Amino acid sequence: MIAMMGLCLVSTTLSAAASKDSEEPAAQSAEPVRVLLITGGHDFERQPFFEMFSAMPGISWKEIVQPEANKHYTTAAVKDYDVIVLYDFVQDITEEQKTNLARVLREEGKGLVGLHHCLANYQKWPEFLQILGGRYYMEKMKEGGEEREPSTYDHDQRFTVEVVDPNHPITKGMSNFEIQDETYGLFYVRPEVTPLLRVQHPKSGPVIGWAHNYGKAHVAYIQLGHDHTAYTNPHYRQLVLSAIRWAAKK
Ligand SMILES: [Zn+2]
Repeated sequence: MIAMMGLCLVSTTLSAAASKDSEEPAAQSAEPVRVLLITGGHDFERQPFFEMFSAMPGISWKEIVQPEANKHYTTAAVKDYDVIVLYDFVQDITEEQKTNLARVLREEGKGLVGLHHCLANYQKWPEFLQILGGRYYMEKMKEGGEEREPSTYDHDQRFTVEVVDPNHPITKGMSNFEIQDETYGLFYVRPEVTPLLRVQHPKSGPVIGWAHNYGKAHVAYIQLGHDHTAYTNPHYRQLVLSAIRWAAKK
């Protein structure tokens, strides 16, 4: 949370070549998973963030910055992508854009991976809670008939991330790991999601990663990812890559 930045309309296109280090030989010959990377509305360390995606084997990506990105949630605009990755922080969205985003996910099965501060997006759009599976509350508010306290954040916390299910495709083969990152507290997680990552820390919500289906879409959310200390953590990179592949159904 904290810093807001002026929005810029610069888009970056870079493609990562398939790596020789891929553990899945079949993936090397396959087409890359095409990621539409949505940023904007919140400051972040651009260079190490994009280096993380460029280092991922079997991934190609393009960035679109908000508020422009909201216009791209149409069938025609997302047809060249397998997965939408949200790393934006935005509140404004038109009714038409809401309908479009819900449709490409629910009816067309486009994958979605939410990272970090996108949990606070669209505070006044109830369906976004259904889409992402959780919500960070910027202020005290009522949702789903329940009073929600404002969520909290604390930077530079050091903690152990517990893998809930090492058999889920996103966390397959992973063990618990250490990370230094920003924690969020008092955020809401829908009970219907499948928890993937847990934390026992006084300043963190207990479930910090999950997966679920929104209509035909595979949707995953990972709370981690404030800055380079997360982006360069090999366990974090593995999580984000696995979430992208799972959301892409590849
Ligand atoms: Zn942050």
